[in-house]
Amino acid sequence: MEKNENLQIIRHSCAHVMAEAVQKLFPGTKIAIGPAIDNGFYYDFDFPKEHKITEEDFPAIEKEMRRIISSNAVFTRKEISKQEALSLFKDEPYKLELINELPESEVISTYEQDGYLDLCRGPHVNSTKEINAQAFKIAKLAGAYWKGDSERPMLTRIYAWCFEKPQELKDYLTMLAEAEKRDHRKLGQEMDLFHLDPEDPGQIFWHPNGWTIYTVMQDYMRKMVRRDGYQEVNTPAIMPRTLWERSGHWGHYQKNMFITESEKRLFAIKPMNCPGAIEIFKIRSYKDFPLRLAEFGHDVRNEPSGTLHGIMRVRGFVQDDAHILCTEDQVASEVAKFCKLLKNVYHDFGFDNLVVKFSTMPEDHVGDLKTWEKAEKALSDACHEAGLEYEVQPGEGAFYGPKLEFKLYDCLGREWQCGTIQADFQLPSAERLDATYIGADNQKHHPVMLHRAILGSFERFLGILIENFAGAFPTWLAFEQAAVIPVTNQFDDYAKEVTEALTASDIRANAYLSDENMRQKIKAVTKEHKTPYILILGENEQKEKTVTVRFRQSSGLEQKTMKIQEFIDYVQEKVNSHFIGI
Ligand SMILES: [Zn+2]
Ligand SMILES: [Zn+2]
Repeated sequence: MEKNENLQIIRHSCAHVMAEAVQKLFPGTKIAIGPAIDNGFYYDFDFPKEHKITEEDFPAIEKEMRRIISSNAVFTRKEISKQEALSLFKDEPYKLELINELPESEVISTYEQDGYLDLCRGPHVNSTKEINAQAFKIAKLAGAYWKGDSERPMLTRIYAWCFEKPQELKDYLTMLAEAEKRDHRKLGQEMDLFHLDPEDPGQIFWHPNGWTIYTVMQDYMRKMVRRDGYQEVNTPAIMPRTLWERSGHWGHYQKNMFITESEKRLFAIKPMNCPGAIEIFKIRSYKDFPLRLAEFGHDVRNEPSGTLHGIMRVRGFVQDDAHILCTEDQVASEVAKFCKLLKNVYHDFGFDNLVVKFSTMPEDHVGDLKTWEKAEKALSDACHEAGLEYEVQPGEGAFYGPKLEFKLYDCLGREWQCGTIQADFQLPSAERLDATYIGADNQKHHPVMLHRAILGSFERFLGILIENFAGAFPTWLAFEQAAVIPVTNQFDDYAKEVTEALTASDIRANAYLSDENMRQKIKAVTKEHKTPYILILGENEQKEKTVTVRFRQSSGLEQKTMKIQEFIDYVQEKVNSHFIGI
């Protein structure tokens, strides 16, 4: 068995142990569900009114869990009839609801350990012996609606971290502590990058500092796609119901769309850019292919506010989206071309470690088998050509086509799924948006549409960057590249002169001319802006027309005095090469 699979079984089994401990310590607590998740598990409980559980209860629950684990309790599976299940769980309303939803033919199984009974499909460990009593830790409490439905009762979710070995837990906790220091929400505030308003969930207010980084990223992406043969387009933010009906979104995606009305007609704010891209595509000839249409489209999705997270998961965001319309024969070379572009972009942002997941044909799909086989082969060939290894996720593709997903690792070893390319045989078809082209045979055909994004969304990717660099951005991304600080007011004029020279050379520089003393200015710039270069100007510098550069401490570079032009050349070289450092 795969290590990962085994670990998920340990985690889920440990969830049963936690549920047992909780019910013992808080009699009358009702149990809902307790799946394994990344790094651990959770269990949802409905506590009786008299029990207000807090973090202070964690040690007692953990202690009871350790007692259960050390008793080497065996997990016993039993298959029972629906009638038996209904009577066994008569005091557990959530389990009853689950039992009643099971199809008649479903085998119902229970698992019992140490006298605790749970309704579960399994699998589990054979005995609690297989759970290491020092490798789990209760993490936190959260509210979670039963079945994620805000109309249903709010349950208490208890999260726990769980690993095979104590050292793995220790390493994970160290990583979490480091991640907390780097939390983009915390740094976003400290560095004055953006703010979020609880009255307007998931919509970002970008401040000048954050927006500067954002536009640097956007300018960069714009340049990269243009160089790679894309044309940029832009489609309306609000489009009519009729279009969304044809695209299929009205039927399948409506609950995530903000809908509005004007002159007795319904419109939706676009949640994605694909239908707009096809609207631009009228009848074409095969000679126009491949047609690569990039759009930095601002999308809005009505996501439940409880699922939002800082700028990583929001309602309003901009994708670095593009749609490639091509013939079936061109899919392979287009995907290969995309993989190369993606690798270059990730490299420039400092990510060289990638994982590719390849999702193949699901049971429920449109299009014939031959077309699927061809598309899947095109995707896998493209990975080989770009030197990317992939992991297959059988049957995980969208119903309209196979896809590749690209995950990168940040400096804490966390995995982030960002890029994706997806072949689509459905949207351009006659049943949907009916895009056609005239082939070499003079006949009408439907093109293949490739949906693809590299960063995913600028917002989320910037969140990842903030955490990856802990706010200390490489020169090319820093919102303030140079802070110009005169030693006293006497050198203010020279400071202005230097700042103007840098600004004229497209270096983002600010002069700090206030009456505060120099040390205070340096401290503020270092802490709040994490500026790569602080230029100190005094008598000598003014006389020699030089700047004394203090490099950001983490770079380990020694202070250096340079001619103004020499410094400009130095910075421009770092910027132009997208150097990951300063
Ligand atoms: Zn179970
Ligand atoms: Zn799309």
